[in-house]
Amino acid sequence: MAMYDNHRPTAELQALDAAHHLHPFTDGDALNRKGARIITRAKGVWLTDSDGHQILDGMAGLWCVNVGYGREELARVASEQMLQLPFYNTFFQTSHPPAIALAAKLAQLAPGDLDHVFFNGSGSDGNDTNIRMVRRYWQALGQPERSVIISRWNGYHGSTMGAASLGGMKGMHEQGGLPIPGIAHIDQPDWWSEGGEMSPEEFGLARARLLADKIEEIGPSKVAAFIAEPIQGAGGVIIPPETYWPEIQRICDAYGILLIADEVITGFGRTGNWFGSQTLGIRPDIMTTAKGLTSGYVPMGASIVSRKVAEVINGSDEFAHGYTYSGHPVAAAVALENLRILEEEHIITRVREVTGPYLKAAWEQLTEHPLVGEARITGMMGSIALTPHKASRAKFAAKAGTVGLICRERCFANNLVMRHVGDRMIISPPLVITEEEISLLMTRARLALDQTLDIVRAEGLL
Ligand code: PMP
Repeated sequence: MAMYDNHRPTAELQALDAAHHLHPFTDGDALNRKGARIITRAKGVWLTDSDGHQILDGMAGLWCVNVGYGREELARVASEQMLQLPFYNTFFQTSHPPAIALAAKLAQLAPGDLDHVFFNGSGSDGNDTNIRMVRRYWQALGQPERSVIISRWNGYHGSTMGAASLGGMKGMHEQGGLPIPGIAHIDQPDWWSEGGEMSPEEFGLARARLLADKIEEIGPSKVAAFIAEPIQGAGGVIIPPETYWPEIQRICDAYGILLIADEVITGFGRTGNWFGSQTLGIRPDIMTTAKGLTSGYVPMGASIVSRKVAEVINGSDEFAHGYTYSGHPVAAAVALENLRILEEEHIITRVREVTGPYLKAAWEQLTEHPLVGEARITGMMGSIALTPHKASRAKFAAKAGTVGLICRERCFANNLVMRHVGDRMIISPPLVITEEEISLLMTRARLALDQTLDIVRAEGLL
């Protein structure tokens, strides 16, 4: 049926891949010398590669396969929708039932007065939508000079020009003249790396107050919005100190700037509630969502917007923005079915009450390992900091990421996908992971850490 061969020998697939495929966020030559790992199928939390290995996916793909792999309902719904109405747009005064139903469903699930939806194709273009929407909002209110958006160093908001500018990944900014004008960054609330002598609580407050300082520096009448991930994901699963978000919320309210919560990872159950904003007690004006919206089965994103903002956008002339695939009917139908599964199978409640606490207890014990400094986790997103000396929260003398990469390779060798960000190891498994699978994940993680310690000692990296 498919126009490709799932059973071709690995070496052949790798050679073809090397010859024609440019990979995202990849050193192409290095990959091509080694050959890509080729994933051919998946079920539940398990990936199968072209050599027949069964690999436990501790990252839910790219933090997205919330309901797990291989759900037939999603395939069925996609196929039925393709036959019914494979495409129609939502421009030019038209709409269609899947997009209508999904917007209404998201309005029902989202907290507070977040009850309007602008559909995007992904998280990145969702954040581009948000940049344009908040600027349009202030323009429509007669304050066009309110255009600056403040975000954070080491935040991640996507890879388009706008979203990568919002992000605070310096390596991305260096390629291609970013950030675009009108974006300012403040430091992140990463206590482990940057907290110095302060307590986490003091540090959380200090880092939140940088927002007020930045607003004053730019001029309060020029600032449109602040954007942040409730918990930084790609930055290393940085769970902020408890003092951080209440102070950020207070500052946004005091200055009357819009708050955008980038929930691309934290949305749809990852933190044990529908949205990370609920877990962290945030009241955003806009939430960026994608990934878990469809569990990654098809691409889709949604900016979920407060009534206050939506009324201004609707109440002014045409908002000159949109994507061909805004509200794509197949994606919308899959999203609705995915939300039904999350809801009816009580998957998020289970994360909050059963599997999340089970994983947390095991994860936090990792600090007993000689290499692990801190172990943090909320719901199904967690990280550990690798360190040569816990008490001083020291960094390795080797280039950042050297030890993290060794550990990631040891995870792969033990058929576990964990990712590394510098010398932090991160997990974000499918939300349907069972207790048995969590135990297996922990066994493999500990084994990988032991092997990493042996290598680090042998190579004199400690
Ligand atoms: N925001 C956050 C918080 C993300 O983690 C990501 C992707 N990892 C994005 C935005 C960008 O989403 P996409 O890759 O779908 O464009």
